[in-house]
Amino acid sequence: MEHHFETLAIRTQAASSDFREHAVPLYVTSSFTFENAEQARALFADEMPGYIYTRFSNPNHSELIEKLCLLEGTEDGIATASGMSAMFTSMAALLRAGDHIVASRSVFGSTHQILTQILPRWGITYTYADLDRPESFQAALQPQTKMIFVETPSNPALDLIDLEWLGKLAAQHNIILNVDNCFATPYLQNPAKYGAHLVTHSATKFIDGQGRVIGGAILGKKDLIKEIRFFARHTGPALSPFNAWVLSKSLETLSVRMERHCNNALELAQKLATHAEVLWVKYPFLPTHPQYELAKKQMRLGGGIVTFELQGGIARAQKFIDALRMLSLTSNLGDTRTIVTHPATTTHSKLKEEERAAVGITPGLIRISVGLEHISDIWSDIQQAIQRSAEHNQ
Ligand SMILES: *Cc1c(COP(=O)(O)O)cnc(C)c1O
Repeated sequence: MEHHFETLAIRTQAASSDFREHAVPLYVTSSFTFENAEQARALFADEMPGYIYTRFSNPNHSELIEKLCLLEGTEDGIATASGMSAMFTSMAALLRAGDHIVASRSVFGSTHQILTQILPRWGITYTYADLDRPESFQAALQPQTKMIFVETPSNPALDLIDLEWLGKLAAQHNIILNVDNCFATPYLQNPAKYGAHLVTHSATKFIDGQGRVIGGAILGKKDLIKEIRFFARHTGPALSPFNAWVLSKSLETLSVRMERHCNNALELAQKLATHAEVLWVKYPFLPTHPQYELAKKQMRLGGGIVTFELQGGIARAQKFIDALRMLSLTSNLGDTRTIVTHPATTTHSKLKEEERAAVGITPGLIRISVGLEHISDIWSDIQQAIQRSAEHNQ
């Protein structure tokens, strides 16, 4: 019987031990014992399934990955120590000198460093394309292009790309499509449905959702995951069993949390849109978003991130942030607590001014990761900070 998302997220569990515990145990062990010499030989020869060593696999990893595969509609996967180890491993395991990646210009800061500073050391080159100009992806393809890597929606520009179109482009040219689905989570969008071969996650964000652990995952086609598993087994980006346990538990509440994140975010975006001091507001499910129709087509809801700009540019943005009383100033996102970030001076400060402009980060852009507090309390804090930052302006 086909279960729904909510049920799969809750009822997919590792088998209980002889103690018949209801919650899954935490397997804090570096290795697993062999019954005898023959079993040890067979396990190492891949002649039988089973656990050997936690760098290779662990029951807490298996539960997390089984659940994520059911939620994303993928065949197999591995759990990684961070989102970045997922991004890096998914590229390094499959690419070699001479290969080329086409990536969305708008990617997470450390992904940008991997593409521009790290992979080129080993002869793997890249070309950036623009999410809001899909034809630029087609134009960037080379005979050596082996992977297309995108984030949709992007951080913090909230630009999208049509995954169905991109899936067809990748299939037509026999290129691996790798989608960082961190912003949407498997609840809002399933890139594998549109032909993505790999779906990568920072589980640190909405999947944990409570600002506690760092983790990641690579999900996708069996044959690709087999190669990635070989690479990971010998290079060691393994997730700690404790973090795997936390993340598997977190998935049980992903759907209810995402509903609240998205409802709060939409309401906040609507309120900001009518405020006289707000120059613009961007949110995928706001009809003024240039890709509103596409967002409605490929996402269940608009996500938990809203961006906007106040009159007065960068100085006003900083005054606004200093005037907040409740919202958190921290560099994470996807937490129960609403978080406010000024990307131009923090998360994206390493980019040059024109690079920021090219990915839609104006000096005054403010990013809000909308949390699960009552929307009236979130709005009160933002409203008073807008007002007090205007007073300071005079
Ligand atoms: C945070 C983030 C990452 C990196 O994840 P870590 O868990 O911090 O290593 C990658 N991609 C996106 C879109 C992110 O937001």
